[in-house]
Amino acid sequence: MVWKLEELACAEFPCGCGRVHKVPIKRIRLSRGAIGCLEEDVPEMGLTGTALIVADETTFEVAGREVESTLQQMGIPAKTVILRPRHSFTPSHWVLADERSLGEVLIRLPDNGGFLVAVGSGTINDITRFVAHKTGRPFICIGTAPSMDGYASTVAPILTGSFKKSMPATCPTAIYIDPDILAAAPQEMAAAGFGDIIGKSIALADWRLSHIINGEYYCPVIASIVEQVLSQVLEDVSALSTGDPDALLRLAEGLILSGVAILMFGDSRPAAGAEHELAHFWEIKGLERGRLCYHGDKVAIGTLIVTEIYQRMLALEPKAFDWEKVYAERLPLAQYKQIVQQDFAEAWEALYSPHWDKLKNQELARRTGELVVPNWNRIQEEVPKSLLPIDSIREYLSVLGLCQNPQELGIEKEWVEAGLRSAKEMRPHRYTIMNLAAEMGCLETIGGEIVQKIFG
Ligand SMILES: [Zn+2]
Ligand SMILES: [Zn+2]
Repeated sequence: MVWKLEELACAEFPCGCGRVHKVPIKRIRLSRGAIGCLEEDVPEMGLTGTALIVADETTFEVAGREVESTLQQMGIPAKTVILRPRHSFTPSHWVLADERSLGEVLIRLPDNGGFLVAVGSGTINDITRFVAHKTGRPFICIGTAPSMDGYASTVAPILTGSFKKSMPATCPTAIYIDPDILAAAPQEMAAAGFGDIIGKSIALADWRLSHIINGEYYCPVIASIVEQVLSQVLEDVSALSTGDPDALLRLAEGLILSGVAILMFGDSRPAAGAEHELAHFWEIKGLERGRLCYHGDKVAIGTLIVTEIYQRMLALEPKAFDWEKVYAERLPLAQYKQIVQQDFAEAWEALYSPHWDKLKNQELARRTGELVVPNWNRIQEEVPKSLLPIDSIREYLSVLGLCQNPQELGIEKEWVEAGLRSAKEMRPHRYTIMNLAAEMGCLETIGGEIVQKIFG
């Protein structure tokens, strides 16, 4: 079955997995002239009152102005807030989802009712969805670049100080994407979107792995959506490299579909695994230094590294392990905690909760061999299905001009080492290949080999 994004708008269906899946987005329009559909959709969706359009200078020019005039012609009062970049970060022309941007939107928000319109990609949507959530207003999204899969998201990463915290937010009532607007965005944004999607190869493998080892809930329908997104986008690599608007539209569709899979699941499990944990860890390190780069660029590097981890892990023979020795050599909690604390530095305070100790104690006592040995054949057969050969990933990245080495993105050797040790604590409940490698006593060796290979 091929999933059509526009048909998933407003979908609600009981699934073979035992749950009812819901997609609360009322309209998803992906076509030339999509903004023109506002005329029909806004009254139908029951949106009334003043519209506050949130944009930056560029997105206002490429789409915001048209949104503003379309709404005004409909008799809807529309105001626009144009957010400014924070120059203390590099690159200095990026708007950040920080206290200042949130404050600017809140100050301009009409007192009573109305709705918000995000015109932009990642950050503009994060800011808008967060304010929409906090003020109980609906918002609609006019996507301007296929750069990440957060368009349909219900969380917003908000920067406070130099730490990005994932905050509850609202998903959009409607999403509008016009391929001609996408084609006007810098090519590197589409490349970043591709990077976010190639990471799904790992996310799917990690989810399957945890399903087999831990009996974690798994929905084949949601997994099939993410699989479709991945295979479609891989077919489009060369068209994307030439900026073909139809391929860009399919990439945007894939990114939104991935977001819809997240909505259906209830969190990002189907679309984010160990590769995202590494990417988020490096982001923390970059922010501490005031350095920014696209999320998808980091996910692509994470995907290369975690694919290597998978290759090495899947070649092991767990039944030949001396498991009692593995259990005995695990670090005591206090020692492990100290290492993680050092690796995260200032960010640890924001991540740590007392529940963490309890969870880690359970992990340290886990008799992993009893879970892995009887399931190893199944793991070797089912888990690699979504994984890609490293050479193919490198080829895709090079066609799209994406970095293949952490150094090119300013990711330092120490960050890679620390990430391989501790990034799995970004989301301690999400079981990935890095957790399994740690429990099997292999993470340090495998991580060391990979760092050696990259940095020499
Ligand atoms: Zn299901
Ligand atoms: Zn992502």
